[in-house]
Amino acid sequence: MPTTVPALLTDAAGAAFHRGTVERRDLGPHDVAIDIAFAGICHSDIHQAREEWGGAIFPMVPGHEIAGTVSAVGSEVERYAVGDRVGVGCFVDSCRECEYCLAGEEQFCLKGNVGTYNARGYDGEVTYGGYSTAVVVDERYVLRIPDGIELDVAAPLLCAGITTYSPLRHWGAGPGKRVAVVGLGGLGHMAVQLAHAMGAEVTVISRTRSKEEDGRRLGADHYVATSEEGALKALRNTFDLIINTVSADVDIDRLARTLRVGGSLVYVGAPSERQSFAVFSLIGGRRSVAGSNIGGIRETQEMLDFCGEHGIGAVVERIGADDVTAAYDRVVDGGARYRYVIDTATIPA
Ligand code: NAP
Ligand code: ZN
Ligand code: ZN
Repeated sequence: MPTTVPALLTDAAGAAFHRGTVERRDLGPHDVAIDIAFAGICHSDIHQAREEWGGAIFPMVPGHEIAGTVSAVGSEVERYAVGDRVGVGCFVDSCRECEYCLAGEEQFCLKGNVGTYNARGYDGEVTYGGYSTAVVVDERYVLRIPDGIELDVAAPLLCAGITTYSPLRHWGAGPGKRVAVVGLGGLGHMAVQLAHAMGAEVTVISRTRSKEEDGRRLGADHYVATSEEGALKALRNTFDLIINTVSADVDIDRLARTLRVGGSLVYVGAPSERQSFAVFSLIGGRRSVAGSNIGGIRETQEMLDFCGEHGIGAVVERIGADDVTAAYDRVVDGGARYRYVIDTATIPA
């Protein structure tokens, strides 16, 4: 019999969250049952709960930055035992046989991976995410959280961490490379720490100076406020790589012109509107505009281990179940410093 567990639900696009329950499936032989301790609030949760990306399934229980402890394991589980500290990120299944799954890049699964929430499993059942007290996930999609990272600080790594780690690695951030991070939010504050730890020279490009101290403390060497006249113009031919984490439209032309010849402007921010640019912003410097989507399971574990070794975690503010609806507005208004995490002990009625 499936288990009924407390959860925070939203019933329609933009509707307030309320307490309720969802069902978790019986433990299959390869499944791990997890007591969730914390779930991060990613801006992607907001895009989906407000149906800004279309096609949302309601009622919805968002949450794909999940950290907790293993409470039970199926008969054939090999990697995890009761008591292990684990995480779950943006997907909970994939086809396991396409070229990308075989290469450990399940984020590009050709069949389409199964999202942790707002999705249907291959069995047709709707998935419900981490704003809940427990979840059941196949062990292949479960990550191990290093001992040195507290669970609240670890939760945002499962999306914000891997989403920035993966493009930094792919585009070769490291010593001698100049990396800009646009937007100092949940993703941005992870990108700054990770790029700094990789040895790159890091610049924050934010709207205002209000986060300058934080940015420098997180590891930025330089800080630029786009609200200041001519700020980007002064940076022509500067960056090898720009990671754009902004959840809204940006001026691609102004950003691209700060790239060196051959540099790349990589979108991880996912605004729903079409983005446009002048071709001359690219061809004048053999520049690329690209995109990057979370990361595969293997690379997510690599990122977690990297964070463990370098003492990196998210900067979090713990909130309770009653605060989630208001926290969404604060994130959109730029008020988060830098990730809200829900203490799931506050969810049961
Ligand atoms: P967030 O915490 O809200 O951070 C976004 C940052 O963008 C803000 O802190 C702000 O930085 C800047 N910003 C916000 N509105 C802006 C505006 N109107 N104009 C200019 N800058 C603005 O969000 P997040 O959780 O980091 O997520 C960021 C984006 O990445 C979202 O669109 C999310 O859906 C997407 N995402 C994508 C992936 C992927 O796999 N590609 C994974 C996770 C999230 P400043 O105040 O410093 O300017
Ligand atoms: Zn996310
Ligand atoms: Zn696949």
